[in-house]
Amino acid sequence: PLVYFDNASTSQKPKCVIEALTQFYSEYNANVHRGIYKIADAATEEYEKVRIKVNNLINSYSERSIIFTSGTTESINIVAHSWGVENLRKGDEILITEMEHHSNIVPWQIISKKTGAILRYIPMRDDILDLNNIDNLINNRTKLVSIIHQSNVLGIINPIREVIEKAHKVGAKVLVDAAQSIPHMNLDVQNLECDFLTFSGHKMCGPTGVGVLFGKENILENMDPVFGGGQMIEKVSLDKSTWNEIPFKFEAGTPNIAQVIGLGAAIDYLMNVGFDFIREHVSELIQYATSELQKIEHITIYGPNQNQGSVISFNIDKYSAYDLVKLLDCYNIAVRAGHHCVQPLMNHYNISSSIRKSFYFYNTKSEINYFIECLKKTIKIIDH
Ligand code: PLP
Repeated sequence: PLVYFDNASTSQKPKCVIEALTQFYSEYNANVHRGIYKIADAATEEYEKVRIKVNNLINSYSERSIIFTSGTTESINIVAHSWGVENLRKGDEILITEMEHHSNIVPWQIISKKTGAILRYIPMRDDILDLNNIDNLINNRTKLVSIIHQSNVLGIINPIREVIEKAHKVGAKVLVDAAQSIPHMNLDVQNLECDFLTFSGHKMCGPTGVGVLFGKENILENMDPVFGGGQMIEKVSLDKSTWNEIPFKFEAGTPNIAQVIGLGAAIDYLMNVGFDFIREHVSELIQYATSELQKIEHITIYGPNQNQGSVISFNIDKYSAYDLVKLLDCYNIAVRAGHHCVQPLMNHYNISSSIRKSFYFYNTKSEINYFIECLKKTIKIIDH
């Protein structure tokens, strides 16, 4: 028996996803877009079917906007190293937030150093983003806003629509990091009007090694590829090459075929479970867990009182987060201790780590009861 409360890190995988991988490897393992024999056709067909599924999942404009990557990190880096390098100049501004995951900070630090663009941050005010100064932060020099949708540490969903509208008024592009939101809700890129959206398959029941970069077609058309190699070209001669059409221009080399097919199975599975159910169930778990945790003496829960997300982060008085989590593991409880790849946010709270419980639709209230019981036991063990 395992109580798995580390879903913000990666989700567990349903059988149908594991079976989709096995079926690919055992029945029609072949490379895509190349062979003209039956199993190569089957592999290409299954791979491309997933592009259609992703297109439908996020209500994108067309499959041409859907690029398969290895995950959110690679997706953001592609935008940074292609769009960023081509469009940012000295004095331009990139705006991100103080609660970003490192994968939406570090690429922009690298690119701002390369281009001379200035990296600015929407600061935290208490437990939320401080948008009071937003009209100053988003100005004529702003060329890109890159923002996390749902926090991986605080129970927060950011008001991205408001930010997107303001950014578009000054002609800036907007990237939405949806790594934490897409496992839990219906996203609609046409409605959001974001220019880029990124996410990982492994946090939404899919395999590791697959993710998505959505980009508006006209923007992708004008971006250069980051990686060169097979599949992304139209013609290669000794002195120059021309590029394949989008999205293939951005998928150099043999892609993660099995993982993409597994992601397709995960999307079918989640659609079957239903995002309404997922949100409702996880929200009930969050409310219940919060009220139970609040009964623990000397606990500090980070984030706003009204938790809108799927994670709860906390520390308890003098107890090290690492000690508690290590002891909880003895009871087969998997929770995370650490900085959760958001060191600037940890600095805002003046802490170096926290314990993070993150839920998904398969978690239950009885698991939360077991967690609380074991947490109390671990505190007693340390006290003695
Ligand atoms: N962005 C957010 C908000 C995340 O929570 C994560 C992973 O935890 C990432 C980006 C990076 O995702 P990956 O490691 O799958 O590339």
